[in-house]
Amino acid sequence: MTRIALLSQRLANQIAAGEVVERPASVVKELLENCIDAGANRIDIDIEQGGTKLIRIRDNGSGIDKEDLGLALSRHATSKIANLDDLENIASLGFRGEALASICSVSRLELVSNSKNDPGENAWRVEAEGQEMNTALSPASHPQGTTVEVRDLFFNTPARKKFLRTEKTEFARLEEVVKRLALSRFDVAFSLRHNQRSIHHLQTAVTEQEQQRRVALVCGPAFIENAIHIDIEASGLRLWGWVSLPTFSRSQADLQYFYVNGRIIRDKLVTHAVKQAYQDVLFHGRHPAFVLYLELQPALVDVNVHPTKHEVRFRDGRLVHDFLFRALHKALAGVRPEDRLATTPGAVENSVDRETGEMLAPISATSMGEFSGQGRMSLSPSAYGASSHSNAYGAFASPNNTGAQIAEQLQTYKELAEDEEIPPLGFALAQLHGIYILAQNKQGLVVVDMHAAHERITYEHMKQAVANEGIRAQPLLVPVSIAVSQAEADCAEQEAQALLDLGLAVERVASESILVRQVPVILSSANIEQLVRDVLADVREHGSSERVSNYQDELLSTMACHGSVRANRQLTIPEMNALLRDMERTERSGQCNHGRPTWVLQSIDQLDKLFLRGQ
Ligand code: ADP
Ligand code: MG
Repeated sequence: MTRIALLSQRLANQIAAGEVVERPASVVKELLENCIDAGANRIDIDIEQGGTKLIRIRDNGSGIDKEDLGLALSRHATSKIANLDDLENIASLGFRGEALASICSVSRLELVSNSKNDPGENAWRVEAEGQEMNTALSPASHPQGTTVEVRDLFFNTPARKKFLRTEKTEFARLEEVVKRLALSRFDVAFSLRHNQRSIHHLQTAVTEQEQQRRVALVCGPAFIENAIHIDIEASGLRLWGWVSLPTFSRSQADLQYFYVNGRIIRDKLVTHAVKQAYQDVLFHGRHPAFVLYLELQPALVDVNVHPTKHEVRFRDGRLVHDFLFRALHKALAGVRPEDRLATTPGAVENSVDRETGEMLAPISATSMGEFSGQGRMSLSPSAYGASSHSNAYGAFASPNNTGAQIAEQLQTYKELAEDEEIPPLGFALAQLHGIYILAQNKQGLVVVDMHAAHERITYEHMKQAVANEGIRAQPLLVPVSIAVSQAEADCAEQEAQALLDLGLAVERVASESILVRQVPVILSSANIEQLVRDVLADVREHGSSERVSNYQDELLSTMACHGSVRANRQLTIPEMNALLRDMERTERSGQCNHGRPTWVLQSIDQLDKLFLRGQ
């Protein structure tokens, strides 16, 4: 054993750097957060070779006083908190006082600053030298604000350097950091250059329209064209931002930005709530896209639970979970055809990006998202009682449309052309191959997948019926006994009433055994043991269980599928129109029960383009 000795400053800082400074992207994150904490509203980022050679960040924030410059580079030195109370009410992004010291210990770092408190134009440069990282000051020239230059990251920690990926990969990660911050602060202008090339140039965005433009620049124009804007407030919580329509789903969870009081987070509770909200409308295995901001009192959330501060802890997790779920669920349920049509501008001038002058991709419902048709669902040949449904388009026996019918229809259109009141999905023209309904609306041609549309409508009606009547329960002939853990049995005992509300009568019969006496009628043929286990797990984790209603939804969805219009059925024009009107009235009718779109639009503009008209 060797003797015990204090670590040198540099070595201590290098050890600390292990936690916060993983790669160029983490350096950029820390430096950008400092700029924002300093109140900057313009930040310029210059990168060379993916950040391994150079990261230079300049801001126009408050700057640092000459006397404090040395301290800025020391560990446990911060201007952001002074006592424990401050830690509970953090308004700044940084507060640990170790970023600059850590970065400085594993790179060649130079900081130049001009403080607004120092009279005159004087700026000062500071660097740290040697094992003890003594700081050296020298005069410099710089407008108000700060520039931090980080060269040769990990030059003195070769082991770390080995973990870096290609320049392209490192830059992509770093760019993601900039995007995240750019979405959190619309009031700050950002520019990002890589190897002397301009990558992002974002002006400050004040109005909702300007903010929307920034979101389009950062997330791609297709996202904003297929998103709805929300702003909901309840019980001291506010949620606003943009969420994608279910038909704009992605194969990966890569377009998901969630901010809590301006700080981006990845949180299990949030992910769960969002997933729940989309669960009924999203194609299996697909991920929604969103840019969302949750605002609440700082004291209701603890941000000091992780060194990179990506996780938070809510004081009342259940309240937050329920609020998020309800807000999003409601917003998605409310999407109607006209919302999508409203965001489908036919005019080209909206599509030119003001800052780059670039044409954004033309908007078309056919190119909605990156959703690639997953093949038609196979339709069950044994579908029951479609004809037993007595809705307007349920009678399928009608023959093909006669010439007289068509003439009559054309007459209706002539009259309608003069009438302003054309409904969003228009009026049916014909049926294609027994699968699609062709309709004409104000913008152009609407194509409806009639099975998918009818399935959703039937499903929503059935859900509504169940919601109105409540969950009907029925006693089991033979109660089911389940062996559980003591904790699960405790939970079953304490939450007996909540379970009863879900239609489940559960009784504790021993310290590790429960008896199920009653279940919802609709689930009587389900695997009851599995259901109850899952419900108990949910109740323990989230304090509530949506599982019964989810499972119920699943069953309803299956039943709706079997009870809906099948392909290759001839519908009359009035039947088709009735279906279109029902779609306009029904919640979530923009996608089928499996998340596929139920209708698309080809505007006259798009058709003109297809035929090269007016070019
Ligand atoms: P923290 O951000 O946790 O306080 P840092 O090591 O990142 O710790 O920064 C140390 C201190 O240096 C900050 O508290 C702040 O006072 C000052 N500082 C760092 N960067 C800037 C900047 N860009 N503008 C003004 N002050 C800064
Ligand atoms: Mg900091």
